[in-house]
Amino acid sequence: MADRNDAIIKLMDNPLGQDDVFRFRCKQCGSCCRDRVDILLSPFDLCRIAKELGEPLQKVFEKYGHAYIGSTSNVPLVSLKMREDNGKCHFLREDNRCRIQKNKPSVCALFPLGRCATRKDSGTEIFYILQSTDCGERDESHTPKEWMGEFNLEESEEWFCIWQDIVSTLSERVTEVLPKVSVEFENALFTGIGGLLYLKYDIEKPLLPQVRENGAKVLSIISGIDDMMKMFGH
Ligand code: SF4
Ligand code: SF4
Repeated sequence: MADRNDAIIKLMDNPLGQDDVFRFRCKQCGSCCRDRVDILLSPFDLCRIAKELGEPLQKVFEKYGHAYIGSTSNVPLVSLKMREDNGKCHFLREDNRCRIQKNKPSVCALFPLGRCATRKDSGTEIFYILQSTDCGERDESHTPKEWMGEFNLEESEEWFCIWQDIVSTLSERVTEVLPKVSVEFENALFTGIGGLLYLKYDIEKPLLPQVRENGAKVLSIISGIDDMMKMFGH
């Protein structure tokens, strides 16, 4: 993980804006849809997948999500589960196409790009990086804006900004208190926060206002964490 983080930090030396050009052509080999443990799902992704499949959010979360606590961020994270029988993604078709193409996770839609956010006084700024990969060819030119095409870049960037702000604030505060609390406290905290972050959405309604609202509730829980600790006798 440390090597991967170092590689990403290095790539950040060459950030791409929405209209900058990179060269890549996907050969539809399907390799990036197998044996993956690093395709993180945001609530935005989960809601879009639930809507595409016509299934309840909770069911999609349980069926396709693997929930865990980030080892460095200390925040609840969800990654896309692969099939147990052959390691392939549940959504990979026989022809190596994605069954949920229009609503696939942002990580998949972006690849080989990655998206990063930096927090500045003026707000959160977004940029893209071209990940180093041996796959595909380099005989087509694209821009991040055009690459994301039907994924509605503007909405997904807005979502990403809100999400990054919530996760960063959460991570800072939780990392500070975790060494001081019991396992019972930790479980209660993560259950409450995790449910709000990932499950309390009406997928038929606009998602951005809902993540703002849920994010505000999570941050309010976090700001009252000292009182909560007292209730647990810490
Ligand atoms: S992105 Fe790369 S690994 Fe994935 S299908 Fe295309 S060529 Fe294959
Ligand atoms: S969701 Fe689609 S693009 Fe992403 S890993 Fe699965 S099959 Fe591949």
